[in-house]
Amino acid sequence: MTIDQFNFAGKKAFVRVDFNVPLDENFNITDDTRMRAALPTLKKILADGGSIIIGSHLGRPKGVTEKYSLKHILKHLDELLGIEVQFASDCMGEEAAAKAAALQPGEALLLENLRFYAEEEGKPRGLADDATDEEKAAAKKAVKESQKEFTKKLASYADCYVNDAFGTAHRAHASTALIAQYFDKDHKMFGYLMEKEVKAVDKVLNDIHRPFTAIMGGSKVSSKIEIIENLLNKVDNLIITGGMTYTFTKAQGGKIGLSICEDDKLDLALELMQKAKEKGVNLVLATDAKIADSFSNDANTQFCKVNEIPDGWEGLDIGPESEKAFAEVIKGSKTILWNGPTGVFEFENFTHGSRSVGEAIVEATKNGAFSLVGGGDSVACVNKFGLASGVSYVSTGGGALLEAIEGKVLPGIAAINE
Ligand code: AMP
Repeated sequence: MTIDQFNFAGKKAFVRVDFNVPLDENFNITDDTRMRAALPTLKKILADGGSIIIGSHLGRPKGVTEKYSLKHILKHLDELLGIEVQFASDCMGEEAAAKAAALQPGEALLLENLRFYAEEEGKPRGLADDATDEEKAAAKKAVKESQKEFTKKLASYADCYVNDAFGTAHRAHASTALIAQYFDKDHKMFGYLMEKEVKAVDKVLNDIHRPFTAIMGGSKVSSKIEIIENLLNKVDNLIITGGMTYTFTKAQGGKIGLSICEDDKLDLALELMQKAKEKGVNLVLATDAKIADSFSNDANTQFCKVNEIPDGWEGLDIGPESEKAFAEVIKGSKTILWNGPTGVFEFENFTHGSRSVGEAIVEATKNGAFSLVGGGDSVACVNKFGLASGVSYVSTGGGALLEAIEGKVLPGIAAINE
């Protein structure tokens, strides 16, 4: 079933969204991209005369935690939807069931953070540090058992299930995948966002126009290793940047000062360079850096060669020479994937490299390239620099996007398709 084929009139839809938005210390939303991304789906259901029960997680709570309450985003959701959304202060229990049952066409109910329950993720909580393997296994079994009841209860609120949470599609959680088994093929579907995400990934995986360039930034090689290895089989150019740079630089004998580095990944970095060579992939690394004498926006700065960073200094962004080299590669590309900043873009004085990558992508896109930007931080970058409208597609998925590009079957997608 597709969302366009389904008539929601008089129906209650359980819609799993990804409202895991960043909040500041006063609970103001600092980036509402994920909320806006779910609006077409929510509005379509309301316009059809359906009602919606909205489920989401926020953060990584280990139980009920005020900080991670979805009530903080309720007011903004009201504004975005143009209606007063009801709230159930517990996603289980009487209140949620009663409010869901009483929903009228055109009304919406937001459930409290699903992850306040361990059953959402199906992982045991509160195990003592010295728990034995037996105790761990028993706790796991218990949570898997109670997860069935939890999932069934969520499903009981609605007539149909819509998954629009691409950001968690790589997790086989209660509300992202398991719930789908309680709805037949004609009553479960992707939301518009999920449909678009699946299409964009498909384009980068199966409809590649060359040259294909991937720009992988961020802090750690260890968290990106699988995707980097996978991309080596697909891309023509691979730009590895951000904090990962220094692991590669040190591996080649360069001086990196205090720059972030994974000493246990030096061999791996050399292996990746060798693999790139064997596969004929043009691996592009920074040649210069913007360095700082402390990890702070107000640090003293200078530019230097990436492998000649003085003691006491650290690389927090790429330098102008690298910007130019990266931009040249990007502008010559026809398919572009960007994940991760070139530096500590949270500090205004170290945003220049990430901005220049974004601008080069926009220019390539103008010249006909298909560009996909994904991963929380790259999305934050394009939004911060006002470049989102100049790229072909901004994904809401971080880990999910990367796993999809690695070629893995995502449980949230499989659950709807099977
Ligand atoms: P990731 O979550 O792995 O995509 O990494 C994103 C994070 O990497 C951002 O918070 C950046 O501040 C950080 N990052 C990028 N470049 C550097 C660098 N040169 N030194 C330290 N952190 C960095």
